[in-house]
Amino acid sequence: GYRARSAYKLKQLDREFDLIAHGDTVVDLGAAPGGWLQVAAEAAGAHGRVIGVDLQRIDDVEKGDAPVETIRGDMTEDETKDAIREAADDRVDVVISDMAPNMTGEYNLDHARSVHLARQALETAEELLGEGGSFAVKVFQGQDLADFKADVEREFAFSRTTSPKASRQASSEVYVVGKNKLTGPVRVGD
Ligand code: SAM
Repeated sequence: GYRARSAYKLKQLDREFDLIAHGDTVVDLGAAPGGWLQVAAEAAGAHGRVIGVDLQRIDDVEKGDAPVETIRGDMTEDETKDAIREAADDRVDVVISDMAPNMTGEYNLDHARSVHLARQALETAEELLGEGGSFAVKVFQGQDLADFKADVEREFAFSRTTSPKASRQASSEVYVVGKNKLTGPVRVGD
């Protein structure tokens, strides 16, 4: 088994969209407690690498063949993105994000915070993901989803929005997927 049920959502996304190939370097944002890390480490295999980031500390991941490294940090802070860039050694094939805000129960606020986190993930993909790379991000539905989707569409040759059957308890969440990134990493200052 996996350490979080959410693992099955990534399995389903990977099955449907072929996000992770053997040998890939995968960056997983909002990775605690580590279910997605386990699935990603299996999919990336012995020649791959997985880098997980979360506000919370993550117990060591043993499942799967790819080495898993974790960074404790806040994705709204530049120094966390710098730490990922350093750990990835300039090669990232896949960026996935399951980040979610602390829920207040106020629909519009939760939605706005979720979109803000999804935008941090997209920014990370823009800055680190190689040409041809893959992206998948969780976002709660609401008024700003359409704009966000349009921004993902601009960066990738293929994009889709999907709600995996495995995500039952929070029915307002969807995953926006981008495949085949059109350009390579964008350097700050270029
Ligand atoms: N995919 C994970 C798994 O399979 O174990 C579950 C992720 S959980 C739904 C969402 C995570 O997003 C939480 O662990 C939370 O700490 C993290 N998160 C929320 N805001 C964040 C931020 N600003 N920076 C980094 N992580 C964040």
